[in-house]
Amino acid sequence: MLIAGNWKMNTDLPGAAKLAEEVVEALGDPGPVQVAVCPPFVSLDAVFGALRGSSVKLGAQDMHFEEGGAYTGEVSAAMLRSVGCTYVILGHSERRQYFGETDEHVNKKVRQALAHELVPIVCVGETLKEREAGQERHVVKGQVERAVESVVLSDPARLVVAYEPVWAIGTGKTASPAQAQEMHAYIRRLLAEFLGEHLAGNIHILYGGSMKPANADELLSQKDVDGGLIGGASLQAGAFAAIVAAGKSQS
Ligand code: PEP
Repeated sequence: MLIAGNWKMNTDLPGAAKLAEEVVEALGDPGPVQVAVCPPFVSLDAVFGALRGSSVKLGAQDMHFEEGGAYTGEVSAAMLRSVGCTYVILGHSERRQYFGETDEHVNKKVRQALAHELVPIVCVGETLKEREAGQERHVVKGQVERAVESVVLSDPARLVVAYEPVWAIGTGKTASPAQAQEMHAYIRRLLAEFLGEHLAGNIHILYGGSMKPANADELLSQKDVDGGLIGGASLQAGAFAAIVAAGKSQS
């Protein structure tokens, strides 16, 4: 079970350090649940410091696929490693929607992250229009297939997939537990097809989209839901800790 908080473009430097401290305190012992927080780039170093001595890992929200060089404004995998990142969120729907991120970019980023021993949290998911047109499996299949193209993986812990239906992100609408389970089982079958049965069985597939303490139990109790990627609720230490506690009770 993995619960990761995506803080998006929220918190300034002192606010991020404070939130990280509050998360560590609110969590107590997360038991077998792996926990990560993904603050904005400028706060990664400070949050890494605030997490020291706890089991909470650090993640970034994006990165560039090149090693380095003339890419103004970008951040590389090696830079993320140097500030203590374990995870990096890739292909978030907000990156795809607002910043023109394509499946090809996501694939290059996944391969670059793996080459630098970062664990990519690859986000996939359909829009409302695509679901209403009955296209959700087709869309998700394309995203998963292209994200893992040419990826060589020997350890399932090196890759995480997050199913985030776009219509459920930040909207208060959540996929029903049955809808989540159905898509997660489908994603696992796709991963088995592309990466092999053994790896697929052990890759964490997270659900993301308005997960909060009130619905976490039901979602996390689904067989193929191995955790959550949490946006809004991860900005309140108490709510985030309650979701981790729900994960703990399901582990
Ligand atoms: C997200 O953006 O990854 C997300 C799941 O957001 P929220 O929980 O706010 O819907």
